Amino acid sequence: MNVTDNLKQVLAELPSGVRLVAVSKFHPNEAIEEAYRAGQRIFGESKVQEMTGKYESLPKDIEWHFIGHLQTNKIKYMAPYVSMIHGIDSYKLLAEVNKQAIKAEKVIRCLLQIHIAQEETKFGFSFDECKEMLNAAEWKALANIQICGLMGMATNTDSKEQIEREFRSLNCFFHEVKKQYFANEPTFCELSMGMSHDYHLAIKEGSTLVRVGSKIFGERVY
Ligand SMILES: *Cc1c(COP(=O)(O)O)cnc(C)c1O
Repeated sequence: MNVTDNLKQVLAELPSGVRLVAVSKFHPNEAIEEAYRAGQRIFGESKVQEMTGKYESLPKDIEWHFIGHLQTNKIKYMAPYVSMIHGIDSYKLLAEVNKQAIKAEKVIRCLLQIHIAQEETKFGFSFDECKEMLNAAEWKALANIQICGLMGMATNTDSKEQIEREFRSLNCFFHEVKKQYFANEPTFCELSMGMSHDYHLAIKEGSTLVRVGSKIFGERVY
């Protein structure tokens, strides 16, 4: 199996309305170019420096999605070209993205990351923290960011039931937030959930963006 075959296999399983973020972190430009030649345009990276290097040497119609943990001091490097940032988990980060988006004279699409897994190590707002941030309403004054939806990662477990439960809870919360805060905003429409081992479950529970890496590019060598 090669990248092209893997990619086609994943794409063939996606229902309409679900898009693929091909997670290329730790894989070389050649692997991305192969997926690009097969038609893939959305790629996900988790390190700003790595993503910027790839952005500079690869075709400019690639949509770069940042899916890693954000550091405020790195946002400026990706602001000029990044298409979507999946991992916003504080108001402070959102405000910094806005500031850098102003400098880059653009609007940056963002997803709020919600902590739905049991592991302590995964980042994100709790449901309550997220609502608190949205209730405070300061974000409404940030004209150069657009909150387009939510992102989450399920627990790394063999329990299908647990993964389904976590994705379902995020989907429920997504609809609640949409109704309460974004009722008149059709751009609040993305639910980013599902990775190589659980994207089938995520799709069943309402995902619109799956982030699949190793299933397409093979195991990562760190
Ligand atoms: C690495 C990563 C992925 C892709 O993981 P795979 O198991 O290789 O599909 C998806 N989402 C996030 C946030 C990641 O960091």
